[in-house]
Amino acid sequence: MKIRPSNRVTALSGNIGVYVAVNHVQLSYTRTPPGGEPKRMRYDVPLDWTPCHFGGSRQWFRCPRCSRRCAVLYGLACDGRFGCRVCMRLAYMSEGEDTGARLWRKQQKLEARLTENGGKPKWMRMRTFERIYERISAVEEARDADFLASAARFLAGRGDLG
Ligand SMILES: [Zn+2]
Repeated sequence: MKIRPSNRVTALSGNIGVYVAVNHVQLSYTRTPPGGEPKRMRYDVPLDWTPCHFGGSRQWFRCPRCSRRCAVLYGLACDGRFGCRVCMRLAYMSEGEDTGARLWRKQQKLEARLTENGGKPKWMRMRTFERIYERISAVEEARDADFLASAARFLAGRGDLG
């Protein structure tokens, strides 16, 4: 399960409610631990903004666990809480998984061709920039898919850790 800042005004599936306040969102949902009673969970996730290249600002979550900025929050099945990709990985997985590491290197290589903020270098043709951008998006999607598949495998193998 993933939540992006852009989902913030949408009621998500799985009975997750997302309420927006000025500087945080509140997630509320029901979680049923194995063999336990359904429990109503509710907590706040702080929001953060960074200025965009062409004006405006980009919105981020602050991870409720480590306070890092993140674009996506993942449901942490073992205790029913949410966290960023890093926390999810630390919580459940050993480092250095082959596919994930390979995709990550690929993404870094692509990103190295752009400016520090992921923008177009002056000399680069628009078409080239767009192609790199598309490839980065594709790698990011593959990383997400790989990440979630690993998480699912892990959870299936280990059961509930809470
Ligand atoms: Zn985190």
